[in-house]
Amino acid sequence: MKSVPEAFGSLVFDDRAMKARLSGEVYHAMKQTIKQGKPLNPSVANAVAAAMRDWAVERGATHFTHWFQPLTGVTAEKHDGFLSPAPDGGVIMEFSGKELIQGEPDASSFPSGGLRATFEARGYTAWDPTSYAFIKGKVLCIPTAFCSYGGEALDKKTPLLRSMEALNSQALRILRLFGNKDVRRVTSSVGPEQEYFLIDRQLWKQRRDLIYTGRTLFGAKPPKGQELDDHYFGVIKPRVQAYMEELNEELWKLGILAKTEHNEVAPCQHELAPIYTTTNIATDHNQLTMEIMQKVAEKHGLVCLLHEKPFAGVNGSGKHNNWSIATDTGVNLLSPGESPYENAQFLLFLVAVIEAVDEYADLLRASVATAGNDHRLGANEAPPAVISVFLGDELTAVLDALEKEEPYAAATRPEMMLGVLTLPRFLRDTTDRNRTSPFAFTGNKFEFRMVGSSNSIACANIMLNAAVADTLRRFADVLEKAPDFDTALHALLLRSLREHKRVIFNGNGYDDAWIKEAEEKRGLHNLRTTPDAMKALLDTKNMEMLIRQKVYTETELRSRYEIMLENYCKTIAIEGSTMSEMARKEILPAVERYAAFVAEGAAKKLALVPSLNCSYERKLVQSLSALTDLIERDTDALDTTLAELSTISDITELAEGIRDRLLPTMAQLRAVADEAEITTAREFWPFPTYGEILFAL
Ligand code: ADP
Ligand code: MG
Repeated sequence: MKSVPEAFGSLVFDDRAMKARLSGEVYHAMKQTIKQGKPLNPSVANAVAAAMRDWAVERGATHFTHWFQPLTGVTAEKHDGFLSPAPDGGVIMEFSGKELIQGEPDASSFPSGGLRATFEARGYTAWDPTSYAFIKGKVLCIPTAFCSYGGEALDKKTPLLRSMEALNSQALRILRLFGNKDVRRVTSSVGPEQEYFLIDRQLWKQRRDLIYTGRTLFGAKPPKGQELDDHYFGVIKPRVQAYMEELNEELWKLGILAKTEHNEVAPCQHELAPIYTTTNIATDHNQLTMEIMQKVAEKHGLVCLLHEKPFAGVNGSGKHNNWSIATDTGVNLLSPGESPYENAQFLLFLVAVIEAVDEYADLLRASVATAGNDHRLGANEAPPAVISVFLGDELTAVLDALEKEEPYAAATRPEMMLGVLTLPRFLRDTTDRNRTSPFAFTGNKFEFRMVGSSNSIACANIMLNAAVADTLRRFADVLEKAPDFDTALHALLLRSLREHKRVIFNGNGYDDAWIKEAEEKRGLHNLRTTPDAMKALLDTKNMEMLIRQKVYTETELRSRYEIMLENYCKTIAIEGSTMSEMARKEILPAVERYAAFVAEGAAKKLALVPSLNCSYERKLVQSLSALTDLIERDTDALDTTLAELSTISDITELAEGIRDRLLPTMAQLRAVADEAEITTAREFWPFPTYGEILFAL
């Protein structure tokens, strides 16, 4: 490979490429479009398209695609060749401004939740110039938004861009109030830490559950799991190291700032974190990262599992969404400042985030709700399903003092006065580490830890941006009208803290006592499952907020409710059917074969020595037989439940049925099958065991 700086971004039509290939005038117009969202005029678009095409063709590209993020959670692309017939019988490579700006994939099979009747199935894709085009394989990929002809968003990028716009406008109002005139744009940034499992491909191929569902549906607990904590931050094995090296190189070429990598808690679990960037780009990059993780794994004879819970009994995988808001002048608004004014501004943004998280906790929970993530949240490992905010001792003390209207008495730091507002001066690095909090302040950013490992980070950031934007709007409405800014600010912070401090919690989020306190004393939501959480999308207060911030229309929200629940139902129904198939076609025959083998062995022994007791064989055959009876009974129950549920057409009712009836039936079948695995000789068991998969590399 070339040196890292040389290779970095070599497959991206980034600012360097634009500068080198566009005329001064076109480059300037393009920058205006990127920075201020100004539309490109057709001649400029043609010039940009031609330069992009030449650049891509030189790098071996033959096709282009409008790359978009439909509501399936993965990305979609439809390739079009550049080639076009020339009069002399040859071909030329063509790509027009029109093709760059808009596309019409025939995308009638993507979920739209009723947004797009099939007769007007053709949604259209629109270029997002704020995210650079890049080359993947032989294809020039143009990041795009995906909408219906009625203008409704059929993707995740459109609402994300809208939420960033909402946050920008409201944050600017606040900054103006603090006398800030230079800032022209406020953007949210994200650094998503991505967890994943790497397992051997040969072993993976032997398990239908992994192939069809991305997780194991059966598997007895191995003698060793993660109890020794010997994997966490441990030495990286050579095969994994080789994988990580190639992965980094591929990501760097795409301009993705892959920075840290380490082993995680569970055996075969790892993490990759990029350097943070603008939310929109971070989201595109995270989608690409997940895709490339899987591709590179294949080359190394591995499989990268992105499922939230591939193995029962060991930790699942998530994505820590590190989020902050910053100005185009380089100020992180969640970073405590040096002067009292900066600190007052910091406190306002901090308090706004706390209020937003408390007001819209159910929406945030809904934004990360999937069938896979339900195994993690509330399962005593990842953050609990209850959303609370961790601030650390010092910030909590600062806010306490503020709320009690007492001076903040940290021994070492002098206080500063700002009007009537007693403001402490505190340093940046004030946070202790708390791994159990779902929403933790970590010095100059918040870390939202509930996002599932396979999920797009778009939804979480859409809700976060929108909720914070709306809180800032409320603050700005009050402060803009106030006769005295300092007094009004003081009163506003006090009011907000008093109303929303219930969401602040610095203790152990896994503790049962906390869950009880959260629910009973503090009245916080504990939405354990996806069907519970999704209702937040249809809640009047939440809908009004999202519509007010122009992030979603009511129709779009209703469609998302449908689609998310549909995904939930389909995912679990596939798991149920896979279990049934594995039980009937693999597990039952295997246990049966083993029982017959034992019985035949005993018969042979008895033929030779009739006085033998053969009590071991008798007992074993008896318990194997009892187990096959139970497995058959539970598989029947599973099939019946699946059949009964398939007649329900109302999506809410179906999702609840799946949760309350199908999942317990699946758990019951698994319990007896795992018992059978323990009882059956290894050579008879039809697929690799947990121990073999987890400790193969
Ligand atoms: P840890 O595992 O201790 O949480 P990591 O270094 O693995 O820390 O990840 C921290 C993530 O937070 C990185 O992706 C980093 O780029 C990101 N980050 C740091 N500062 C900010 C910020 N101001 N806004 C958003 N993300 C940030
Ligand atoms: Mg982290």
